[in-house]
Amino acid sequence: MRLKSLELQGFKSFPDRTKLNIDTGMTIVVGPNGSGKPNISDAIRWVLGEISSKNIRGTKMEDVIFAGTDARRPMGYAEVSLTFDNTVGEKLPVDYDEVTVTRKYYRSGDSDYMINRKPVRLKDITELFMNTGLGKSGYSIIGQGRIAEIISKKSEDRRGIFEEAAGISKYHYKKSEAERKLEKADDNLSRVTDILKELESRVGPLEKDAEKARRYLELYGEKKQIDVGLWLYEIDSIRTRSEKLQRDYEIAKHELEMAEDSLQSLERQSQRLLERLKENQEKSENARKEFTALTEEKHSAESAILLAEN
Ligand code: ATP
Repeated sequence: MRLKSLELQGFKSFPDRTKLNIDTGMTIVVGPNGSGKPNISDAIRWVLGEISSKNIRGTKMEDVIFAGTDARRPMGYAEVSLTFDNTVGEKLPVDYDEVTVTRKYYRSGDSDYMINRKPVRLKDITELFMNTGLGKSGYSIIGQGRIAEIISKKSEDRRGIFEEAAGISKYHYKKSEAERKLEKADDNLSRVTDILKELESRVGPLEKDAEKARRYLELYGEKKQIDVGLWLYEIDSIRTRSEKLQRDYEIAKHELEMAEDSLQSLERQSQRLLERLKENQEKSENARKEFTALTEEKHSAESAILLAEN
Protein backbone atom coordinates (compact mmCIF):
# COMPACT_ATOMS: atom_id res chain seq x y z
CA MET A 1 0.00 0.00 0.00
CA ARG A 2 1.00 3.58 -0.51
CA LEU A 3 -0.37 6.71 1.07
CA LYS A 4 -2.04 8.71 -1.71
CA SER A 5 -3.82 11.60 -0.10
CA LEU A 6 -5.01 13.19 3.10
CA GLU A 7 -8.19 15.24 3.28
CA LEU A 8 -9.07 17.41 6.27
CA GLN A 9 -12.03 19.56 7.15
CA GLY A 10 -12.59 21.34 10.44
CA PHE A 11 -9.54 19.60 11.90
CA LYS A 12 -7.49 21.89 14.19
CA SER A 13 -6.06 24.70 12.00
CA PHE A 14 -7.80 23.41 8.80
CA PRO A 15 -11.37 24.76 8.81
CA ASP A 16 -11.75 24.48 5.02
CA ARG A 17 -11.74 21.23 3.09
CA THR A 18 -8.04 20.71 2.35
CA LYS A 19 -6.64 17.88 0.27
CA LEU A 20 -2.96 16.94 0.31
CA ASN A 21 -1.96 14.67 -2.58
CA ILE A 22 1.12 12.68 -1.69
CA ASP A 23 3.16 11.56 -4.69
CA THR A 24 5.81 8.88 -4.79
CA GLY A 25 9.16 9.88 -3.36
CA MET A 26 9.55 12.14 -0.39
CA THR A 27 6.99 14.75 0.66
CA ILE A 28 8.09 17.56 2.95
CA VAL A 29 5.74 20.05 4.57
CA VAL A 30 7.27 23.42 5.23
CA GLY A 31 5.80 26.49 6.88
CA PRO A 32 6.41 29.13 9.49
CA ASN A 33 6.08 28.42 13.18
CA GLY A 34 2.51 28.21 14.33
CA SER A 35 1.23 27.35 10.86
CA GLY A 36 0.15 23.91 12.07
CA LYS A 37 2.56 21.47 10.38
CA PRO A 38 2.33 18.82 13.11
CA ASN A 39 -1.48 19.05 12.81
CA ILE A 40 -1.07 17.03 9.62
CA SER A 41 0.63 14.12 11.39
CA ASP A 42 -1.87 14.53 14.24
CA ALA A 43 -4.65 14.16 11.66
CA ILE A 44 -3.04 10.97 10.32
CA ARG A 45 -2.63 9.52 13.81
CA TRP A 46 -6.21 10.56 14.68
CA VAL A 47 -7.89 9.05 11.60
CA LEU A 48 -6.04 5.79 12.30
CA GLY A 49 -7.93 5.54 15.59
CA GLU A 50 -6.01 7.52 18.22
CA ILE A 51 -8.18 7.76 21.33
CA SER A 52 -5.82 9.67 23.59
CA SER A 53 -6.16 13.44 23.06
CA LYS A 54 -2.76 13.87 24.75
CA ASN A 55 -1.09 11.94 21.89
CA ILE A 56 -2.42 14.49 19.45
CA ARG A 57 -1.41 17.43 21.62
CA GLY A 58 -4.81 18.20 23.08
CA THR A 59 -6.43 18.04 26.50
CA LYS A 60 -9.77 16.71 25.35
CA MET A 61 -11.03 15.17 22.10
CA GLU A 62 -13.03 18.30 21.26
CA ASP A 63 -9.67 20.10 20.75
CA VAL A 64 -9.38 18.43 17.34
CA ILE A 65 -12.30 20.56 16.05
CA PHE A 66 -11.41 23.95 14.59
CA ALA A 67 -11.95 26.30 17.53
CA GLY A 68 -12.47 29.49 15.48
CA THR A 69 -10.44 32.68 15.10
CA ASP A 70 -11.27 36.38 15.32
CA ALA A 71 -12.34 36.25 11.71
CA ARG A 72 -13.98 32.83 11.65
CA ARG A 73 -16.63 30.99 13.62
CA PRO A 74 -15.78 27.63 15.18
CA MET A 75 -16.72 24.46 13.31
CA GLY A 76 -19.22 21.86 14.55
CA TYR A 77 -17.19 18.81 13.55
CA ALA A 78 -13.79 17.63 12.35
CA GLU A 79 -13.39 15.14 9.50
CA VAL A 80 -10.24 13.49 8.20
CA SER A 81 -9.88 10.95 5.38
CA LEU A 82 -6.76 9.03 4.47
CA THR A 83 -6.54 7.28 1.10
CA PHE A 84 -4.18 4.43 0.22
CA ASP A 85 -3.30 2.81 -3.06
CA ASN A 86 -3.76 -0.86 -2.18
CA THR A 87 -2.28 -2.32 -5.36
CA VAL A 88 1.38 -2.02 -4.40
CA GLY A 89 3.63 -3.51 -1.74
CA GLU A 90 2.20 -5.06 1.43
CA LYS A 91 -1.57 -4.94 1.00
CA LEU A 92 -4.28 -4.06 3.47
CA PRO A 93 -6.49 -7.11 4.07
CA VAL A 94 -9.50 -5.84 2.05
CA ASP A 95 -10.64 -6.43 -1.53
CA TYR A 96 -10.26 -2.85 -2.71
CA ASP A 97 -7.58 -1.32 -4.93
CA GLU A 98 -8.04 1.97 -3.14
CA VAL A 99 -8.86 2.22 0.55
CA THR A 100 -10.13 5.38 2.24
CA VAL A 101 -10.53 5.48 5.99
CA THR A 102 -12.55 8.35 7.45
CA ARG A 103 -13.15 9.60 10.97
CA LYS A 104 -15.63 12.29 11.91
CA TYR A 105 -16.07 13.80 15.34
CA TYR A 106 -18.88 16.14 16.43
CA ARG A 107 -18.90 18.60 19.30
CA SER A 108 -21.73 16.52 20.82
CA GLY A 109 -19.15 13.74 21.32
CA ASP A 110 -20.53 11.48 18.56
CA SER A 111 -18.08 9.76 16.22
CA ASP A 112 -18.33 8.15 12.81
CA TYR A 113 -15.78 5.75 11.36
CA MET A 114 -15.87 4.65 7.74
CA ILE A 115 -13.92 2.46 5.36
CA ASN A 116 -14.59 3.45 1.74
CA ARG A 117 -17.56 5.53 2.99
CA LYS A 118 -19.22 2.53 4.63
CA PRO A 119 -19.81 2.90 8.40
CA VAL A 120 -17.59 0.65 10.51
CA ARG A 121 -16.44 0.43 14.15
CA LEU A 122 -13.20 1.84 15.52
CA LYS A 123 -12.17 -1.79 16.11
CA ASP A 124 -12.40 -2.48 12.35
CA ILE A 125 -9.99 0.36 11.58
CA THR A 126 -7.57 -0.74 14.32
CA GLU A 127 -7.62 -4.29 12.96
CA LEU A 128 -7.20 -3.11 9.37
CA PHE A 129 -3.87 -1.44 10.13
CA MET A 130 -2.62 -3.93 12.66
CA ASN A 131 0.93 -5.11 11.91
CA THR A 132 1.30 -2.68 9.02
CA GLY A 133 3.36 -0.42 11.26
CA LEU A 134 0.81 2.28 10.52
CA GLY A 135 -1.58 1.85 13.43
CA LYS A 136 -2.09 4.56 16.00
CA SER A 137 0.71 3.08 18.06
CA GLY A 138 2.84 2.30 15.00
CA TYR A 139 6.42 3.33 14.52
CA SER A 140 5.78 5.07 11.22
CA ILE A 141 4.29 8.19 12.85
CA ILE A 142 6.81 9.79 15.15
CA GLY A 143 5.43 12.94 16.69
CA GLN A 144 7.33 15.94 17.96
CA GLY A 145 9.68 14.96 20.79
CA ARG A 146 8.85 11.28 20.31
CA ILE A 147 12.34 10.23 19.21
CA ALA A 148 13.90 11.64 22.39
CA GLU A 149 11.13 9.99 24.38
CA ILE A 150 11.73 6.64 22.71
CA ILE A 151 15.47 6.78 23.26
CA SER A 152 15.10 7.79 26.89
CA LYS A 153 12.44 5.16 27.60
CA LYS A 154 13.19 2.06 29.59
CA SER A 155 13.85 -0.98 27.41
CA GLU A 156 10.55 -2.43 28.71
CA ASP A 157 8.61 0.55 27.35
CA ARG A 158 10.40 0.44 24.01
CA ARG A 159 9.26 -3.10 23.62
CA GLY A 160 5.84 -2.04 22.25
CA ILE A 161 7.44 -0.23 19.32
CA PHE A 162 9.58 -3.22 18.39
CA GLU A 163 6.66 -5.59 18.83
CA GLU A 164 4.58 -3.58 16.37
CA ALA A 165 7.53 -3.53 13.94
CA ALA A 166 8.04 -7.26 14.29
CA GLY A 167 4.33 -7.94 13.75
CA ILE A 168 3.83 -9.33 17.26
CA SER A 169 1.38 -6.70 18.46
CA LYS A 170 -1.32 -8.26 16.28
CA TYR A 171 -0.96 -11.47 18.27
CA HIS A 172 -0.95 -9.51 21.54
CA TYR A 173 -4.16 -7.87 20.40
CA LYS A 174 -5.63 -11.20 19.36
CA LYS A 175 -4.47 -12.74 22.66
CA SER A 176 -6.21 -10.04 24.71
CA GLU A 177 -9.31 -10.37 22.48
CA ALA A 178 -9.23 -14.14 23.02
CA GLU A 179 -8.75 -13.64 26.78
CA ARG A 180 -11.71 -11.27 26.82
CA LYS A 181 -13.82 -13.82 24.93
CA LEU A 182 -12.60 -16.58 27.25
CA GLU A 183 -13.62 -14.49 30.27
CA LYS A 184 -17.03 -13.96 28.69
CA ALA A 185 -17.30 -17.66 27.92
CA ASP A 186 -16.33 -18.39 31.56
CA ASP A 187 -19.11 -16.07 32.74
CA ASN A 188 -21.54 -17.77 30.39
CA LEU A 189 -20.37 -21.17 31.58
CA SER A 190 -20.95 -20.32 35.24
CA ARG A 191 -24.37 -18.91 34.33
CA VAL A 192 -25.16 -22.12 32.42
CA THR A 193 -23.92 -24.17 35.42
CA ASP A 194 -26.28 -22.22 37.71
CA ILE A 195 -29.17 -22.78 35.31
CA LEU A 196 -28.22 -26.47 35.06
CA LYS A 197 -28.25 -26.81 38.87
CA GLU A 198 -31.64 -25.16 39.05
CA LEU A 199 -32.92 -27.41 36.29
CA GLU A 200 -31.49 -30.50 38.00
CA SER A 201 -33.50 -29.67 41.15
CA ARG A 202 -36.60 -29.62 39.01
CA VAL A 203 -35.85 -32.93 37.31
CA GLY A 204 -37.48 -35.07 40.12
CA PRO A 205 -40.90 -33.37 40.07
CA LEU A 206 -40.72 -33.12 36.32
CA GLU A 207 -40.11 -36.87 36.05
CA LYS A 208 -43.23 -37.47 38.14
CA ASP A 209 -45.18 -35.09 35.93
CA ALA A 210 -43.78 -36.83 32.87
CA GLU A 211 -44.86 -40.23 34.28
CA LYS A 212 -48.35 -38.84 34.89
CA ALA A 213 -48.43 -37.40 31.40
CA ARG A 214 -47.29 -40.76 29.93
CA ARG A 215 -50.02 -42.59 31.91
CA TYR A 216 -52.58 -40.00 30.78
CA LEU A 217 -51.59 -40.54 27.16
CA GLU A 218 -51.83 -44.33 27.60
CA LEU A 219 -55.31 -44.09 29.16
CA TYR A 220 -56.35 -41.54 26.58
CA GLY A 221 -55.27 -43.97 23.83
CA GLU A 222 -57.24 -46.79 25.48
CA LYS A 223 -60.31 -44.56 25.86
CA LYS A 224 -60.07 -43.63 22.23
CA GLN A 225 -59.96 -47.31 21.21
CA ILE A 226 -62.94 -48.09 23.45
CA ASP A 227 -64.86 -45.11 22.03
CA VAL A 228 -64.20 -46.30 18.52
CA GLY A 229 -65.32 -49.86 19.48
CA LEU A 230 -68.46 -48.43 21.06
CA TRP A 231 -69.29 -46.38 18.00
CA LEU A 232 -68.76 -49.40 15.75
CA TYR A 233 -71.00 -51.52 18.00
CA GLU A 234 -73.72 -48.84 18.02
CA ILE A 235 -73.50 -48.44 14.26
CA ASP A 236 -73.79 -52.24 13.89
CA SER A 237 -76.83 -52.56 16.20
CA ILE A 238 -78.51 -49.57 14.54
CA ARG A 239 -77.93 -51.24 11.18
CA THR A 240 -79.44 -54.56 12.48
CA ARG A 241 -82.42 -52.68 13.93
CA SER A 242 -82.92 -50.79 10.74
CA GLU A 243 -82.83 -54.01 8.68
CA LYS A 244 -85.43 -55.61 11.04
CA LEU A 245 -87.62 -52.52 10.81
CA GLN A 246 -87.32 -52.65 7.03
CA ARG A 247 -88.44 -56.28 7.03
CA ASP A 248 -91.34 -55.52 9.47
CA TYR A 249 -92.35 -52.65 7.24
CA GLU A 250 -92.40 -54.90 4.19
CA ILE A 251 -94.57 -57.47 6.08
CA ALA A 252 -96.95 -54.77 7.41
CA LYS A 253 -97.19 -53.34 3.91
CA HIS A 254 -98.09 -56.74 2.51
CA GLU A 255 -100.68 -57.30 5.32
CA LEU A 256 -102.13 -53.85 4.65
CA GLU A 257 -102.52 -54.71 0.96
CA MET A 258 -104.25 -57.94 1.88
CA ALA A 259 -106.51 -56.18 4.40
CA GLU A 260 -107.38 -53.58 1.75
CA ASP A 261 -108.31 -56.38 -0.66
CA SER A 262 -110.48 -58.05 2.05
CA LEU A 263 -112.05 -54.69 2.89
CA GLN A 264 -112.91 -54.11 -0.74
CA SER A 265 -114.56 -57.58 -1.08
CA LEU A 266 -116.41 -57.03 2.25
CA GLU A 267 -117.61 -53.65 0.99
CA ARG A 268 -118.79 -55.26 -2.19
CA GLN A 269 -120.55 -57.97 -0.13
CA SER A 270 -122.08 -55.35 2.19
CA GLN A 271 -123.30 -53.45 -0.85
CA ARG A 272 -124.96 -56.57 -2.14
CA LEU A 273 -126.58 -57.29 1.28
CA LEU A 274 -127.81 -53.70 1.47
CA GLU A 275 -129.41 -54.08 -1.92
CA ARG A 276 -131.10 -57.32 -0.83
CA LEU A 277 -132.21 -55.66 2.46
CA LYS A 278 -133.76 -52.89 0.45
CA GLU A 279 -135.54 -55.42 -1.78
CA ASN A 280 -136.80 -57.36 1.32
CA GLN A 281 -137.96 -54.09 2.96
CA GLU A 282 -139.94 -53.26 -0.18
CA LYS A 283 -141.41 -56.79 -0.17
CA SER A 284 -142.24 -56.52 3.58
CA GLU A 285 -143.93 -53.13 2.96
CA ASN A 286 -146.00 -54.60 0.17
CA ALA A 287 -146.94 -57.62 2.37
CA ARG A 288 -147.84 -55.25 5.25
CA LYS A 289 -150.01 -53.16 2.91
CA GLU A 290 -151.61 -56.38 1.60
CA PHE A 291 -152.12 -57.58 5.22
CA THR A 292 -153.72 -54.23 6.16
CA ALA A 293 -156.00 -54.44 3.13
CA LEU A 294 -156.89 -58.05 3.92
CA THR A 295 -157.48 -57.11 7.62
CA GLU A 296 -159.81 -54.30 6.51
CA GLU A 297 -161.48 -56.69 4.10
CA LYS A 298 -161.83 -59.24 6.97
CA HIS A 299 -163.32 -56.52 9.23
CA SER A 300 -165.82 -55.44 6.66
CA ALA A 301 -166.69 -59.15 5.96
CA GLU A 302 -167.15 -59.71 9.71
CA SER A 303 -169.30 -56.55 9.89
CA ALA A 304 -171.34 -57.85 6.96
CA ILE A 305 -171.68 -61.25 8.71
CA LEU A 306 -172.82 -59.53 11.95
CA LEU A 307 -175.22 -57.41 10.02
CA ALA A 308 -176.56 -60.49 8.20
CA GLU A 309 -176.94 -62.40 11.52
CA ASN A 310 -178.83 -59.48 13.07
P1 ATP B 1 6.33 23.54 14.78
O1 ATP B 1 6.32 24.07 16.18
O2 ATP B 1 6.80 22.13 14.67
O3 ATP B 1 6.93 24.46 13.80
P2 ATP B 1 3.93 24.57 13.83
O4 ATP B 1 4.40 25.83 14.38
O5 ATP B 1 3.74 24.41 12.38
O6 ATP B 1 4.79 23.44 14.40
P3 ATP B 1 2.08 24.30 15.95
O7 ATP B 1 3.06 25.07 16.76
O8 ATP B 1 1.75 22.91 16.36
O9 ATP B 1 2.55 24.29 14.46
O10 ATP B 1 0.81 25.15 15.81
C1 ATP B 1 -0.46 24.57 15.69
C2 ATP B 1 -1.39 25.62 15.18
O11 ATP B 1 -2.63 25.03 15.04
C3 ATP B 1 -1.52 26.82 16.10
O12 ATP B 1 -1.56 28.03 15.38
C4 ATP B 1 -2.85 26.58 16.80
O13 ATP B 1 -3.54 27.79 17.07
C5 ATP B 1 -3.58 25.86 15.70
N1 ATP B 1 -4.59 25.03 16.27
C6 ATP B 1 -4.43 23.89 17.01
N2 ATP B 1 -5.64 23.39 17.40
C7 ATP B 1 -6.58 24.22 16.87
C8 ATP B 1 -8.00 24.25 16.90
N3 ATP B 1 -8.73 23.31 17.52
N4 ATP B 1 -8.63 25.25 16.24
C9 ATP B 1 -7.96 26.17 15.59
N5 ATP B 1 -6.61 26.21 15.51
C10 ATP B 1 -5.91 25.28 16.15
